[in-house]
Amino acid sequence: MINFQPNFSHIYVERDAFGFELTDLALSKFPRATVIKIGHYKDVFNRPGQDFQIQKSSMKLILAKKTEPFLYPASDMVQEFDTPNVYYNTPILNCLYNCDYCFLQGMYPSGNIVVFVNEKDFMDAINIKLNELDDPLKPMVVSISYNTDIMAMENIIPMTSRWIEFVDTQENLIIEVRTKSALFSSINNTKPSKNVILSWTLSPDSICKKNEFNTPPLQRRLDACKEAMANGWQVRICFDPVLLVEGWYDIYTRFFDEVFNKLDCDKLLDITLGVFRMNKDYFNRIRKRENRSRLFYESYVIEKGTVIPGKKVRYNALDQLEDKIAQFFPRDKILVWR
Ligand code: SF4
Repeated sequence: MINFQPNFSHIYVERDAFGFELTDLALSKFPRATVIKIGHYKDVFNRPGQDFQIQKSSMKLILAKKTEPFLYPASDMVQEFDTPNVYYNTPILNCLYNCDYCFLQGMYPSGNIVVFVNEKDFMDAINIKLNELDDPLKPMVVSISYNTDIMAMENIIPMTSRWIEFVDTQENLIIEVRTKSALFSSINNTKPSKNVILSWTLSPDSICKKNEFNTPPLQRRLDACKEAMANGWQVRICFDPVLLVEGWYDIYTRFFDEVFNKLDCDKLLDITLGVFRMNKDYFNRIRKRENRSRLFYESYVIEKGTVIPGKKVRYNALDQLEDKIAQFFPRDKILVWR
């Protein structure tokens, strides 16, 4: 899969979402789609009796106007940013891709994609929060791609570049754009911003093919990272989640060799490393519903409401993988989720 492009046959539009620039842009990209006017996006998105995976095979687009809240605290990401002022927002719900390990399958009742078109309200909420930070001496960080892969949508709705333009004018604000997309070319005309971290999730090619459905292959992601770094963007690499499949040590160490052969480590901001883990309610919901992936039948423990490989197994794996990465990259810039 190079750049997966959906062909939305139906676009649901909330009555209140008409008249926004993003609505017009999205509708213009799919002139043949059947447009259905709706009262509220939840009337469609939260309908009972939907099948997430059947819907993923023929996704529909829902354009809606979000109401508050526009910003959520992200306590679980604080470790990555060295600031207590870490937040995420949800400009899009759901994703064009369909990774086996994605928590969205357990979180949302629908596989359809919701795009919130009132981006200014999201940006205004950030401006308000900037004046009341927990620690005003540290930057505010907002992940804008938490419940989606926003850059994967860039050819359809150029939200990433619009967010970059917004954040570039701000003081003390950083946005993280986490992606598996190879669509860096779509934002390449945007001036690199010191207020943006582009974070690529990379996986061995066998995992990309088997467990990250519809995503670009490893080489395409590496090309995108390389180009972004060469053009002066701050790039983070996420080896997260590592899947402890049979032969994981060989698979991942060969993969690290490949990655660090290709990328100029001196230009990388940092690296995150973590094993597969998921909120237990989402995990149980997915496991009960389908048996698409063996991932949900491996042996795990539950720690603080999270399903995760047992402590001994995961510490052993993470230690070995961290040691391998440290052959190429400074250990103090490897952030490990133990
Ligand atoms: S790219 Fe991220 S958000 Fe999209 S399906 Fe995969 S894990 Fe989920």
